[in-house]
Amino acid sequence: MRYSVGIDIGATKILAGLVREDGTVVHRVRRTTPFDSRDGVVETTCEMVREVVLFGQTQDCCPAGIGVGTAGQVNFAEGIVVSGTPNIRDWTGVKLGELLSASANLPVWVDNDVNAHLLAEVSIGVAAGRQNVLMLALGTGVGGAACNESGIVRGTWGGACEFGHISVDFQGPACNCGSRGCLELYASGTGIARMMRQRLGIDATDDSRWIDAPSVFEAARAGDASARAVIADMIGALSTACISLIHTFNPQMIVLGGGVMEQGPWLFESLRKRIGQQGMPSLVGATEVVCAKFGADAGLIGAALQPFVYQCGWMRSEGHDD
Ligand SMILES: [Zn+2]
Repeated sequence: MRYSVGIDIGATKILAGLVREDGTVVHRVRRTTPFDSRDGVVETTCEMVREVVLFGQTQDCCPAGIGVGTAGQVNFAEGIVVSGTPNIRDWTGVKLGELLSASANLPVWVDNDVNAHLLAEVSIGVAAGRQNVLMLALGTGVGGAACNESGIVRGTWGGACEFGHISVDFQGPACNCGSRGCLELYASGTGIARMMRQRLGIDATDDSRWIDAPSVFEAARAGDASARAVIADMIGALSTACISLIHTFNPQMIVLGGGVMEQGPWLFESLRKRIGQQGMPSLVGATEVVCAKFGADAGLIGAALQPFVYQCGWMRSEGHDD
């Protein structure tokens, strides 16, 4: 059995782990993201890699390489964060692949965190054995990823598949991406909380009444009419985006992951029903809509699979011709 080092860099925490090629996390390290400094994030990550590699040596496990998944848009071939998350200061432009490789003396692959999650689902998860697969990760925001027979769909430099910024209403509220009515405004945790505050007439600046997505789901389950209407709007936006994606990609499967989708199977029932009613029958009939296998560890495991996937040539690995 082979091993690699997986790293998941998020806005609040960094996870590093020694991961077996079957996805088992053998050893893990967790740190708070030093959000105020790019160098701090890089240094912390290098330290965590050293710690994981040292643990591996005590177990006679020599990692095949390092795989990183990070928030933000990534140039996969260069290992550079092209457009970082606003939650990590100066994250844009960081040459993560080069810095980590020099520090650890191991080959490094760097990808966007949702691409990493999709990699886990298509290699050892719910989409194993399938090639045309789309992923939507519904968390604080909404991330997207796609793969086909050539591998992860990256576009010109790696910025493809921002499914959270598909507009489902051209007259909808303004999104911070510049567009209007983006899926993320309705289907993310923050979007669900936003809709609930709006429905209850609570000002966005009023901190005295804390509303978050889990509390909206709880109220909906308890029969609260406003919360139910918000969840119905969320399902409406999500099904509209899924139908557009199905019409565009003709996928075998759409995998839905992230904290929001962990709220229960009833979300999937209403979602599948709406997709079935409103999409082109020839296309929606060929697409399964399923829940992700991997939860909180998805980014870590997916990141760690990169050395195995790309070294074995299962997917084309631009920039790594060895
Ligand atoms: Zn947007």
